[in-house]
Amino acid sequence: MEKTAEDYMYDDQADERDAAWAESELLKGGKTDAVLSCPQCLVQICFVCQRHARFADQFRALSVKHCEIREKELFVYGRRGLLEPKTKATPEQAEVFRLVECSKCQARVGVADADGVYHLFNAVAGM
Ligand SMILES: [Zn+2]
Repeated sequence: MEKTAEDYMYDDQADERDAAWAESELLKGGKTDAVLSCPQCLVQICFVCQRHARFADQFRALSVKHCEIREKELFVYGRRGLLEPKTKATPEQAEVFRLVECSKCQARVGVADADGVYHLFNAVAGM
């Protein structure tokens, strides 16, 4: 498949997006930016997470509670930086994310990447 300039830009952004996060303080201590709850049934889904530097509604976490990963519902970041379903047109090297749902009410709360990092962008943040 032909790669466009935009496809390469996408990859650069993907690298930058996750750069160094795994080495953040989050791994060393119990520090968290918020406790996250399902927006629909309000069950708590995450106790240790880090708020995204640029997107205040997005959190990253290494573990979640009351969540299920849908192994067959795959998403990729599109050219505008929004998640969209993986299709046959998706570039081979695109980073693929699996859908993460609340296990109690099946609300879509985020996605999980290949490194086991959860990206939660549909959650209620509280402490
Ligand atoms: Zn729920």
